[in-house]
Parts: sequence; structure tokens; C-alpha cells
Amino acid sequence: MDAILNLCKRRGFVFPSSEIYGGLNGFFDYGPLGVELRNNIKQAWWQDFVHRRDDIVGLDSSIIHHPTTWKASGHVENFTDPLVDCRESKMRYRADQLFFAAVRVAGETIGYVSVLEDEGMQAKAEEAAQDLKRKLARQGALEPVVLRDFTEASPEEIPLVPSPATGKPGSLTPPRSFNMMFQTHVGAMQDASAVAYLRPETAQGIFINFKNVVDTGRVKLPFGIAQVGKAFRNEINPRNFIFRSREFEQMEIEYFIAPTADWEAAHKGWIESCLAWFESIGIPRSKLSLYAHPKEKLAHYSKGTVDIMFEFPFGVQELQGVAARGDFDLTQHSEVSGTRLDWFDEAGKTRFIPHVIEPSVGVDRVFLALLATAYHEDEVEGEKRVVLRLPARVAPYKAAVFPLLKNKPELVERAKALHARLRRRFNVYYDEAGAIGRRYRRQDEIGTPYGITVDFETVEKQAGVTVRDRDTLEQVRMSEDDLVRFLDEKVGG
Ligand code: ATP
Repeated sequence: MDAILNLCKRRGFVFPSSEIYGGLNGFFDYGPLGVELRNNIKQAWWQDFVHRRDDIVGLDSSIIHHPTTWKASGHVENFTDPLVDCRESKMRYRADQLFFAAVRVAGETIGYVSVLEDEGMQAKAEEAAQDLKRKLARQGALEPVVLRDFTEASPEEIPLVPSPATGKPGSLTPPRSFNMMFQTHVGAMQDASAVAYLRPETAQGIFINFKNVVDTGRVKLPFGIAQVGKAFRNEINPRNFIFRSREFEQMEIEYFIAPTADWEAAHKGWIESCLAWFESIGIPRSKLSLYAHPKEKLAHYSKGTVDIMFEFPFGVQELQGVAARGDFDLTQHSEVSGTRLDWFDEAGKTRFIPHVIEPSVGVDRVFLALLATAYHEDEVEGEKRVVLRLPARVAPYKAAVFPLLKNKPELVERAKALHARLRRRFNVYYDEAGAIGRRYRRQDEIGTPYGITVDFETVEKQAGVTVRDRDTLEQVRMSEDDLVRFLDEKVGG
């Protein structure tokens, strides 16, 4: 993870937001290379799920909706996380990410330990329990440490659990609901009637436009509406770099099906499509796994939710959620707005509210998953090399063009002309500074898949250019016309 963070900063993929003012926790800025990678991820997703399918159309709704949207959807009441304060240190924790255990020695509770959710949580808790036993010089067998999250602590236990900040008990508050939506005011009035919210998901913008799309979009059930856009959540603990931030971007689809359709098959089908898509852009199946939310923990409207998990450097965590939401959202918005958001079935002459499957993924998490997969260190000609093995489709630059020597005008001229030709279709870099090996290395580190060199044979014998492959290091010669076709094929997806 450190190596990835370092590369992101050093080569201009991601910067901490507002860095000159000390940064703002949970916000990030994407630099010259980061913005290219991000755009390529979004473009690949849009191409594959909107342009290359007959049954999905796009939408770009406003970020601020009528505030009643969030009352109808349940977000005003329920979009909360359980917040715990440490009165002593002023630190704040999410109760479901704060774990504790009673330390028991030979049948007797001698104290409590606490740890924050991470990969080594259980081991850390056991170590702390051993410490406590040693400190109190208690004789007898230490019983297994059984971790529970802080939402399960009883009122009697709360004062006994040590704060992770101070290591001492007595300063943690009971969990309270904290709404994660950012509030703002619309218009000049700053009173309660002007309160509005920055959307915490793009999905509701789709539901409230359901009728507009049905009336104008020439869609036929089953069909989907896709949207890509910013979402904002006042996360209690933003962490793990861009994995959990307060401003992020989502790519969401609401896929509407008839209430009589086999929703389980549709749900399964979407999980498969999403897995296949990740593979197609360079996130291997071997690093992905599925987590089905237990039935008893599902939100009341959800019939089933499966998370697609990715093996991030800091542990296996959610990359995408695929939820079967029934007819909850359209029903709510129909009832609260008084506008019927339903479907008229011509054949059966019946009206019904469709059910929906919702695949929802964060652009920033895909970005991080791609970097974590692509980052490699190896050795080329006895020198350590950092290489990002990004597929050409998502790589910031598709190729870099080099004249073999900077002081030969005929090479420079030809290379610049080729660069000008290629950049009409692809994002291509031009570099003439330094030895050719170093130029290759600079591009390897930022994931440019092809290095194109114009040499004397190119100019004197019209023998084409050399194309060096970032991953195999093989070099082949091809004509400039073939090169355009070659890149087209590699980049197309
Ligand atoms: P988590 O349990 O990690 O908080 P969630 O289940 O609340 O996530 P959803 O509401 O299902 O997330 O959001 C859909 C997708 O949006 C997630 O799978 C993730 O890719 C992305 N996402 C959600 N919250 C964040 C965040 N704070 N930062 C970056 N991406 C996020």
C-alpha cells in the first residue's frame, strides 16, 4: 500500500485535497494521470453497460434533489451509522468497526480490551488480553477472546471498555445514530425550510426520473437506467486512502424487471456480468470473492444483497454491492409524490410497479483495485523497475513516442509527426529527454503499454517504427499504418 501511495503522489495520480492548507480528511484530488485513469474506467463502464447493450439507457441527474426525495427513500431517517465518542481524546468511532471483548481468566472477568476493525484484529485483542492478565498477575487459564462489535455492548459494559485512543475505560459514550448526509441550504434563506442534501448515492436520481425515461426513452421491460456521478457521505472514519472517502463517484444501474420475473436469476445474472466486467478491465477473478449478506441483517426492503469483495492490500473489502431492492423505491416515491411510477404492460393490459436489481460500484474503489493489481516491481537489465501492468484500455497513456536521439532533427521531426497523427485518436505521450532506457522506465511506472521508437531505419529505409511491449519487453517493427490498427485493437476493449 505504501508503494502505491508513494507512486500516486510522486507521479501525479492522486493528491490529498487542499494540501497547501493542511489537507481535508476524506477528500482527494486526482492529478494529471489520475484523471485519465478515472475517465478511462468510467468510459469503459459506460461503453460496456450502456452503448453495447440494447436494454440500458443513461441518465445524468442533478446532485441536489428536492429534499423530499430523501424522506421518501428513507435516508433522512435511516442513512445513519452508529457513532461513538471518546470524551477524553475527542476521537470518534463507528460502533460497528470498534470491537471489544471481556477478558476472562479461569471463569472470572478481569477486564475488557478493545480494537479497531482491521486485518490483525483478533491477534491484537489476544495480545492485549495477555497483557492485562500479566499486569494484574492473575493465575489460571486465559479463556479465548471473543470479539463483539460495540453496537452489542450492554449499558453495564460500556463504561468498562477501554477507548482505543487512551487505552483506559470510562470515556466511551453509548452509540448514537449519526446521519451521514451532508446538508446545505438552497437559496438565500438559511432556515430549516431551505435545507437540502448532497446526494449520498446516485440511485435515487434514477428512481425519481423513472417516469421521464419511460415516457421518452422507448424502453421495454426489462430495462436499466445507468448513471455515473459524485456522491457524498460524511463518513465517521474515512480511511484506507481513496477506499473510504467523503466525496466519491459511483457507477450505478437500476435494472427494472416485472414483479413476476425470476428475481433470483436476474440477481445472479448481474453478479456474473459484474465479475466478468472486472476481469475484462484487468481485475482478476482470483482476487474477487462474493459475500452474501445474511437474511437477518438485510434492510427491510432488500430481498438479497451480495457484495463483490476484492483483496485490497489492507484486507478483503467491498468493491461493489449488487442488491435486489424489490419495488421499495418506486413505491415510496409514488406514494410520497402522488405521481404513479409504474409500468403499463400492453399485452396483459395491466399496470404494475417493476422490481429492481441494483449493481452499484465506486469508481475510486475500482481505481484502487486496478492499481493494487497492476503494481509490480521487477528487474530489467540489472536495474530495479516499477511497472504498472494496466490494460491498454484503462492506461492513462496508450503509447509513448520517442525519437531515438534528440539531436537528430530528422528523427525528431518524424517522431513529432507520428505523435501528432496518433494523438488524434489516442492519448499518446511524446518524450525526447534522456537515454531511451530511462524514457521506457518512466512510462513503465505510469502504465503506458507501448513504447514507440523512431530510429534511423524508420527514416532512411522507411522500415517502420519499433514497438516495445511494457510487459514482455519484446520489440517488433511495424509500419505506421499498422501501428494505428494495432493500437485500435489493443485499446478498444
Ligand atoms: P461500506 O459498507 O463499505 O460503507 P456500503 O455498503 O455503504 O459501503 P453502498 O451504499 O452499497 O456501500 O455503495 C455502493 C458502492 O459505492 C460501494 O460498493 C463502494 O464501491 C462505493 N462506496 C460507498 N461508500 C464509499 C466511500 N465512502 N468511499 C468510496 N466509495 C464508496
